[in-house]
Amino acid sequence: MNWLKRLAAGTSYSFPFQKRCALCRQKKQGMRKYRNDEGKIIFICPTCVEYAERRAFRKL
Ligand SMILES: [Zn+2]
Repeated sequence: MNWLKRLAAGTSYSFPFQKRCALCRQKKQGMRKYRNDEGKIIFICPTCVEYAERRAFRKL
């Protein structure tokens, strides 16, 4: 199963489930988990945290 190993080792491969900020849609370090007003779990980057708190998103 060498092809599997090669697939897994590909550095250009990006994970489709990688966390993105729910507000600015950017991938950043130090994402925080919140629950929005619809009860959905979202990720907020440190830059948007202030805005998220104003929107009354609950921190998890
Ligand atoms: Zn953001």
